[in-house]
Amino acid sequence: MLVIGSGPAGQKAAIAAAKLGKRAAVIERRDMIGGVCINTGTIPSKTMREAVLYLTGMTQRELYGQSYRLKDEITVSDLSARTRHVVDREIDVIRNQLSRNRVALLPGIARFISPHELRIDDGTGDDHQVSAEKIVIAVGTKPARPASVAFDGSTIVDSDQILDMDRVPNSMVVVGAGVIGIEYASMFAALGTKVTVVEKRPAMLDFCDREIVEALQYRLRDLAVTFRFGETVKIVEKHESGTLTILESGKRIPADTVLYSAGRQGVTDALDIEAAGVSASDRGRIDVDESFRTSAQHIYAVGDVIGFPALAATSMEQGRRAAYHAFGEPIGTANVDVQPIGIYTIPEISYVGRSEDDLTSENVPFEVGVARYRELARGAILGDSYGMLKLLVHAENRKLLGVHVFGTNATELVHIGQTVMGLDGTVDYLVDAVFNYPTLAESYKVAALDAANKMRAIARVTGDVEVTELPE
Ligand SMILES: Cc1cc2nc3c(=O)[nH]c(=O)nc-3n(C[C@H](O)[C@H](O)[C@H](O)COP(=O)(O)OP(=O)(O)OC[C@H]3O[C@@H](n4cnc5c(N)ncnc54)[C@H](O)[C@@H]3O)c2cc1C
Repeated sequence: MLVIGSGPAGQKAAIAAAKLGKRAAVIERRDMIGGVCINTGTIPSKTMREAVLYLTGMTQRELYGQSYRLKDEITVSDLSARTRHVVDREIDVIRNQLSRNRVALLPGIARFISPHELRIDDGTGDDHQVSAEKIVIAVGTKPARPASVAFDGSTIVDSDQILDMDRVPNSMVVVGAGVIGIEYASMFAALGTKVTVVEKRPAMLDFCDREIVEALQYRLRDLAVTFRFGETVKIVEKHESGTLTILESGKRIPADTVLYSAGRQGVTDALDIEAAGVSASDRGRIDVDESFRTSAQHIYAVGDVIGFPALAATSMEQGRRAAYHAFGEPIGTANVDVQPIGIYTIPEISYVGRSEDDLTSENVPFEVGVARYRELARGAILGDSYGMLKLLVHAENRKLLGVHVFGTNATELVHIGQTVMGLDGTVDYLVDAVFNYPTLAESYKVAALDAANKMRAIARVTGDVEVTELPE
C-alpha cells in the first residue's frame, strides 16, 4: 500500500496495513512529517493554548482575583518555546512508530501518472517512480487564500502563519468563526488582544448545541471580543501603521493583525488525480463511499481531504478503516455514529451524539438533564463557575442520545458519555453509577438524576406505574 501524506489519516492507514502483514510506504515532504496536525494545526495550536492558560493565569482568577497573572508581558517566544519542544517530540514519536512497523518513509511530493503508479519529486531533481496494489490519498487541506486579502505572513496571516507572528498584537480581526478562527480568537482574547470576529453566517459553530454556543459567546464578549455576524469581508488592506478590514456593509475595522481563517482547500491540485481516474471538487475535496473508496476501486481517500468533520481523531480512524477494507479485513461498524467533536476554545466545548435541535426536528421525544460545575465540589476547587454538562435522554426508552459539555476538561469528560452511548446504555446506568469525589465526572450522575427526576415527574402525572422511585 502506498499512502500519500503522513498526517493522522495517512499514518494510521500505513501502520494498519503493516500490522496486517502488508508492505506499506508513506510519501511525505521532508519538513512535514506528521502533517498539518503536528506541524501547523492541532499540536501547535493546542500547545499554544496550554501556554496561554498557564502564563495568563486565567483559570486561577476566580480564586485569586481578576488581576491575577503569572507573567505580565507575554511574548511570542514565551508561547513558541513550548510549541517547538512538543512538535519536535511528536515528530520523533511518529518516525519511530513508522520505522518500528517497517513502514518506509519516501521523502517528496507525489503525483499520479497512472491508476497504480506515482512519481515522487524529492526536490533533488531526481524523480523516481513507485507503484502499489492499493493507494491511500491522505493529503489533507491548506488554508484558503483569496486574492482580495493582502497576506504578508506577519500582519495579515492565515492559520499556518499565525505561529510565526513576531509579537502578540494589541488588536486583531479574525475572519471566519469556524473552529480554527474561534479557537485562536479565544486564545488572543485571553492574552489581552482586542479581537473582532467577522463571520458571514448569522451565527457561529452552528453544528453545536445552541445553549453551549451562547455560553461561549457570553464568555468571549466578557474578554472584549466583538462579533460581526452576517457580514462579508470585501477586502483586507495592509497599511504602514496596521491593517484595515473593509466589509461589504461599508464598515472599516482597523487592527494590528488580521487572521484570515475562512475555509480550507483540499491539497489535490498537484496530485494529478485525473491520471488515476479520480476527480476532486473545486474545493479540492474527494468523494468516497462508506468504506472510503474513491471512484477507482483500489484508491482510497481519508482525512480532511474528504471533508467534515475534518478532525485528527476521525482522520486516524478513517485511515485504519480504509486499510482494513483494502485488504479484506473485517472491521466493526457499531460505533461509527458515536464520534466526539472537541473544540479547544477557552473555555472548551465537546459533544457526542445528537443536539436538541436535531432531536426536535426529527420529532424524537427527549428529556434534558443538566449539571453545572458551580454545584460540584470539583468545580469550586478549580474555580470554574460557568462549566456545564447536558445529557439528552430518550423520553421513552431512556437511552442516552447526546452529551454536550462546556468548561474545564470538556474534551476529556465527553468520553464517559460516548462509552455509555456506544454500548447502547440508558440514563439509569449513570444514575446508579458511583463516581470519584470530588471530580467533574460526577456531573454525569447529577445530570442523569436531573433527567430521570423530570421523567419521573411526567410519569407521575400520566400514572405510569413502572417508574422506579429515585432518591431526591
Ligand atoms: C489550526 C488548526 C487546529 C486544529 N485543531 C484540531 C484539534 O484540536 N483537534 C482535532 O482533532 N483536529 C484539529 N485540527 C484538524 C486536524 O489538524 C486535521 O483534521 C488533521 O491534521 C487531518 O489529517 P490528515 O491526515 O487528513 O491530513 P494532514 O494532517 O493535513 O496531513 C496531510 C499531509 O499530506 C502531505 N501531502 C499533501 N500533498 C502531498 C503530495 N502530493 N505528496 C506527498 N505528501 C503530500 C502534506 O504535506 C501533509 O503533511 C486542526 C487544524 C488546524 C489547521
